[in-house]
Amino acid sequence: MFAFSERLKKLPPYLFVELDRLKAEAKARGVDVIDLGVGDPDLPTPEHIVQAAVEAVKKPENHHYPSSVGMRAFREAAARWMERRFGVSLDPDREVVTLIGSKEGIAHFPLAFVNPGDVVLVPTPSYPVYHIGTLFAGGETYYLPLLAENRFLPDLESIPADVLSRAKILWLNYPNNPTAAVADLDFFSRVVDFARKHGLIVAHDAAYTELYFDDFKPPSILQVDGAKDVAIEFHSLSKTYCMTGWRIAFAVGNEELISGLTKVKNNVDSGAFQAVQEAGIAALSGDQKCVEEFRQIFKERRDVVVEGLKELSFELDPPKATFYVWARVPEGYTSADFCAKLLQEAGIVVTPGNGFGDPGEGFFRIALTVDKDRLKEALARIGDLKF
Ligand SMILES: *Cc1c(COP(=O)(O)O)cnc(C)c1O
Repeated sequence: MFAFSERLKKLPPYLFVELDRLKAEAKARGVDVIDLGVGDPDLPTPEHIVQAAVEAVKKPENHHYPSSVGMRAFREAAARWMERRFGVSLDPDREVVTLIGSKEGIAHFPLAFVNPGDVVLVPTPSYPVYHIGTLFAGGETYYLPLLAENRFLPDLESIPADVLSRAKILWLNYPNNPTAAVADLDFFSRVVDFARKHGLIVAHDAAYTELYFDDFKPPSILQVDGAKDVAIEFHSLSKTYCMTGWRIAFAVGNEELISGLTKVKNNVDSGAFQAVQEAGIAALSGDQKCVEEFRQIFKERRDVVVEGLKELSFELDPPKATFYVWARVPEGYTSADFCAKLLQEAGIVVTPGNGFGDPGEGFFRIALTVDKDRLKEALARIGDLKF
């Protein structure tokens, strides 16, 4: 009786629906399912952050409407964190906005700058929200394939001139979900030049900058000279501090871009619960040893999976960052066939690469969100299969 709006009808099928159905079926059959599908860390939020929240919940001044831009103290903590981590200076009053998780900011941002018919440049495979935010704003998505031969960086020179002339925003995400690829400052610097030349906004999703291993420390695009003229960067406490459920993040960068996003937020939400912002302050300003420990845990898991898959002759590059491993499916399989086989014959959930976009076909993504022993068990089960 009530027809969905055209924009809802245009939504791509939700990636995990079919997988969830198969997973539920396997569980109902009594299979001990190992879920390496969703990117939600299994580790609890560090105790000092939880304690800060507990105290903050008790304060009556936190029981009222927050402001949608966020507490000054949270924005200051975010600015100081950006300075310490990246050497990027920001004005907490004009260049920082608090978000209810970065997904919220990413989904709302196009509403501030995209008119119907404008093009938004979206990498693919990718986090689905860049396209969905574009769709909700009435924009047109132009996909930029991320290919192994380009180290999963977009080829900006391949964008046709007539697309570029209508393009408003270029989305980027490094370290990358789902490919686990990283970008260096040299790439960001070329992006900033390109954006200036073509009058583009660069929106960088930086959710995974703290989950790095080995000797590569992912940069912020704002480290590039002049980046603040064109860029907004989305940071999240979700992955860095194992706080996915808390819904706390921030965006930083160009003053007008921040003010546009804030304007949208002023009209749709009333900000993050202040007790959660206080927990966020404890996370950003407190001892960062917990982050080092998380990195160590994910690195050990990565090593187990990378070595295990290589022994089984899978083709992959060891990720330098993120808690994902992106590998090629065995020859003769599509991503969907392979993932269905893993679930049906081994009780293992992994995500088919094409679920993040067509160029992801031929790959699968493992999330390192279960402990080492379970990962070893998963690898043993995969080793028992015939391909
Ligand atoms: C997890 C993730 C986020 C963070 O989402 P929150 O809403 O901050 O929890 C953003 N972008 C990507 C690519 C992610 O994988």
